[in-house]
Amino acid sequence: MKNHAQSEIQITTVFDNYAFQAPLKTAWGYACVVTGLDKTVLFDTGGDGAVLLANMKALNIDPSSIDYVFLSHIDGDHTDGLAHFLAVNPNVTVHLLDSFPSDFMAETRRLGAKVHPVDGPEQIFETAFTTGVIGQLRSEHSLIVDLGEIAAIITGCAHPGIATIVARAREIVDAKPFLITGGFHLFRSNKSEINDVIADLKGLGVKWAGPCHCTGDLGIHLFKEAFGENFIKVGVGKTINLSTLK
Ligand SMILES: [Zn+2]
Ligand SMILES: [Zn+2]
Repeated sequence: MKNHAQSEIQITTVFDNYAFQAPLKTAWGYACVVTGLDKTVLFDTGGDGAVLLANMKALNIDPSSIDYVFLSHIDGDHTDGLAHFLAVNPNVTVHLLDSFPSDFMAETRRLGAKVHPVDGPEQIFETAFTTGVIGQLRSEHSLIVDLGEIAAIITGCAHPGIATIVARAREIVDAKPFLITGGFHLFRSNKSEINDVIADLKGLGVKWAGPCHCTGDLGIHLFKEAFGENFIKVGVGKTINLSTLK
């Protein structure tokens, strides 16, 4: 069941530690669903499968509509919801890092899903790409939705650095106005560090920002100041309609 008009490409946050819409549940972690493309993507699964499925149900997103699960990195607040989700819909391909433990991949296959380990940048389908693995210690990949005129970049925790991720995305889909959303991992950074990151992002062509999860309260506040009307307040239940961004 897809209850969105096909022409509307939307990113709906289904799991986050920030609230947007009552009475959805909040918990530490992140997940969103991208609809309106040829295929439907669940990006990350949050830290609690019961919360994930309850929020999807409340938002009228049928788990069986998901074709791809994209796991940004191994942290439990992004992957622990997977088993619950696969119990409801195992007919998906799970894109994960090739560095994920073999036990994790084996269990994912045992639950009925296809596993697609990611190394370098690649096209997932139509207009969806992975940045490929970025970073050595806490490596991560991010999802790019390329709409031609603009592109959206979705990050889990952005452990390799949000500006590093956007710079990689630019190499893959060329320079264009970018929307970024997800966790930017700035919750331990101070004001001047965060403002430096924001300046880098603007220099890379980021036009809209929807920070949530591990961006932190100060980071979210500073993004709001810096992006003004192009700041997007994100939390569980927020839908960003990419088709309306100009
Ligand atoms: Zn996280
Ligand atoms: Zn993380």
